[in-house]
Amino acid sequence: MSPFFIFWGIFSLLVGLFASQRGKSFFGYFILSLLLSPLISLLIVMLTDSNDQKSEAKRIQSGSEKKCLYCAELVKAEAIKCKHCGSDIGGLNGNALAFKDDLDAHKALQDAIYKKDEMRVEAILETKLSVADCPLAFNHKDYAELHGTPRIIDMIEAKS
Ligand SMILES: [Zn+2]
Repeated sequence: MSPFFIFWGIFSLLVGLFASQRGKSFFGYFILSLLLSPLISLLIVMLTDSNDQKSEAKRIQSGSEKKCLYCAELVKAEAIKCKHCGSDIGGLNGNALAFKDDLDAHKALQDAIYKKDEMRVEAILETKLSVADCPLAFNHKDYAELHGTPRIIDMIEAKS
């Protein structure tokens, strides 16, 4: 076999691996690379990848879908169970992390503190919500000391 075909095969494999890392079909892109060209397939992977990301952001913005806070896959906004990982994502207003505004997010944070839901508190804090600018009656630190767990208090203090 000529070296050209060996390289062709190896690059096809690499494109397949690259595609599968991005949640696409390994075999699909491997075969496409073999038949068409590894370089063209690589371009297709990268183009569809950035399209996927754009449409993902659009779908979250439109409010039709939300990101599961456990596995980071997109699910319908009304879903109360993630179809990808099976996690319970009902929560407040049936919304995982798609908050209408800051006030909504602050309310969700206190709700999570009250329920001692450490994972949800952590996820909400990761949205870069400013803990110090809380418009609610209780600030989050007091609220955490009142209702939270030691770990929740630590997380809130670290952000205050
Ligand atoms: Zn999930």
